[in-house]
Amino acid sequence: MSGVRPHALSSSKGQMDSYGLLLEKVLYPVWEQSVRKRNTFDRLAFLRSTERKSLDELQALQSGALRRLIEHAYREVPFYRARLDAAAIVPSDIRTLFDLPRIPILTREEARATPEERQSPFVHRATISKTTGGTTGQPLLFAYDENSEHWRQAVKLRSYGWAGYRLGARTFHYWGAPTRPLPPLTRRFKIATDRFLKREHYMDCTARSDQDLRAAARAIERGKPRTILCYTQAGADLARFIVANDLRRWDSIAVLCCAEALYAADREALSAAFGEEVFETYGCREVMLVGSECEAHDGLHTSMENLIVEVLVKDGEGERPAEPGESGDVVLTDLHNYGMPFIRYKNGDVAVMGKSDRCSCGRTLLRLARVDGRSADTLRDAKGGRVSGLVFNLIFSVLAESVRQFQAVQHKDGSITLKLIPSSTITDVVRNHIAKNCEKYLPGVPIRTEIVEEIPTSPSGKRQVVMVE
Ligand SMILES: [Zn+2]
Repeated sequence: MSGVRPHALSSSKGQMDSYGLLLEKVLYPVWEQSVRKRNTFDRLAFLRSTERKSLDELQALQSGALRRLIEHAYREVPFYRARLDAAAIVPSDIRTLFDLPRIPILTREEARATPEERQSPFVHRATISKTTGGTTGQPLLFAYDENSEHWRQAVKLRSYGWAGYRLGARTFHYWGAPTRPLPPLTRRFKIATDRFLKREHYMDCTARSDQDLRAAARAIERGKPRTILCYTQAGADLARFIVANDLRRWDSIAVLCCAEALYAADREALSAAFGEEVFETYGCREVMLVGSECEAHDGLHTSMENLIVEVLVKDGEGERPAEPGESGDVVLTDLHNYGMPFIRYKNGDVAVMGKSDRCSCGRTLLRLARVDGRSADTLRDAKGGRVSGLVFNLIFSVLAESVRQFQAVQHKDGSITLKLIPSSTITDVVRNHIAKNCEKYLPGVPIRTEIVEEIPTSPSGKRQVVMVE
């Protein structure tokens, strides 16, 4: 490859040093299990033992977890008791995952409107609350319980592991920074210490001027990471910059692409800058990791032990499961979030169903072939610097209580029209949050805010959240 100057000390495939091994094998498991009382590593061992079981065995696991979830939801969660009663379903009607389609779908609008009713008021309290801007421009408040968090972390460790990610190995996160006010100093110190000990280096990928991209390339050269986790389009922009400016100083670094679609041209650029090991992942904040590519690079294995992933195609008045190669709506059932159950939740994404046979990697976990509709146009600041379109998802995710839906359009003259459908009065605090972050990430760009009652979809029925004219 022309312009590549391998760096002797930097390879994602190298052996771990003694600190990395100590952290991976001893310190972190002891911290999680004995100090924090988390079951993450038990779950991880379980997940590694199930990923190659037969499809029948995996589906039996799902059916068992589904039965327990439905019984819990009916007994404890007012929203689901009312919903099942209205559909004339009792928990014993749902015996296997093939009975799941009898339960009505939970739309994003319903999820937005029922945060209290969908929570378990007695045991399994949802103690972890988060927000998301989503890929549909409809911010959402949601929550989950501790046990679900352990499953989520274990799923992440297993799936990222397919790409060579290991705890204790250096990792470079090229990521969007949260726009909420900074947490208290002690919490920030804890986060920084945790990242330092785990050797995770974070860099904000939102602004991507040449200067920003050069700084990111330098950080990779200095940090010598084993893996890079990036917002896909940010990673691809950085890769193109590295290739164009002949900045590659490393042999091979595995790249995990997150949050945005990975197109063939992006994969090509990432391979040229970092090596052949480029992995697509798909998740949403409500349930975390939904699917991940393995070393066979033939679709995204879904996290079947934690989620039931349906892909549904319109069929007359109703819906049916997509055949391999068919595209449809993603519908998710989170098997272990008892705190605020998501049962048959249509998150607004569109995916193509993958092949159902055993993957050449040996894993049986069902696959998605592709996930569509996760793209936001790249914006420009007043000086022409590139800015991630996901900046508005970051800004509005923390405003879920005030803004029901948003759309940003950058016009030919560079100005941006921001359309908002409020769910309550837009206060000065909200206006200031928007203004402050727009000025930070899109300096010099005139922003016009319009309060509207409706945001139209395109003729194809899709609503693009961030558009450039
Ligand atoms: Zn595979």
